[in-house]
Amino acid sequence: MDEKQDRTFKIGQLLSGEADALSFDRVFAGEWEADGLSFSEIRFSGTVKDEAGILRLSGTAQCELTAPCARCLAPVRACHTEEVDGVVSTENASEDPLEEFFPVEGETIDLLAIAESALLPALPFRLLCREDCKGLCPVCGKDLNQGDCGCERKTVDVRLAGLADFFKE
Ligand SMILES: [Zn+2]
Ligand SMILES: [Zn+2]
Repeated sequence: MDEKQDRTFKIGQLLSGEADALSFDRVFAGEWEADGLSFSEIRFSGTVKDEAGILRLSGTAQCELTAPCARCLAPVRACHTEEVDGVVSTENASEDPLEEFFPVEGETIDLLAIAESALLPALPFRLLCREDCKGLCPVCGKDLNQGDCGCERKTVDVRLAGLADFFKE
C-alpha cells in the first residue's frame, strides 16, 4: 500500500532513453478542502511519453467531492475529473510558454503536486443533489423534493408588493 501513497514518479528510464513511455495509476489519501467542498482521495493516472525528445505527461486526475447541496442542503457526492496535459522538463521552464510545465527533481516528478494543481483551481462553485433540485421552502423550510408543503410562495417583487397593498386600500 505504501507504494500507492508515494507521490513521486521515477522517470529515469525516460531521461536516459531506455523507455519511450511510462504509465502510472495512483491513489492518494489526504484531506483537501476548498470553498466548502472537501475530498479525501485523489486518483491520478496517465502516461509520460517521449515525443521526439520532449517528455509529455497526459493523464486524468479525479476526486470525489462531498458538500451540501446548494439548494436543499442534502449531502452530495460528486466525481470531479480534470484532464492533465503538459511537458515534463529538467529545464526551469517549458520552451513553449503556452504549455503546462511540470518540473523534474532528481529523476522524479511529483504526481500529487501535479494532480492538485489541476484539480484545486477547477472545482465547481457549488454542488446540486440533482439538476432540478427544488430546494427548501423559503417559508417553512421543508425539502420540496419530498413533496409540496402547501405554503403560499408566490415570488412577488417587493416594489410591486407595495403597489398591491396600495390598491387594496
Ligand atoms: Zn438538492
Ligand atoms: Zn413551506
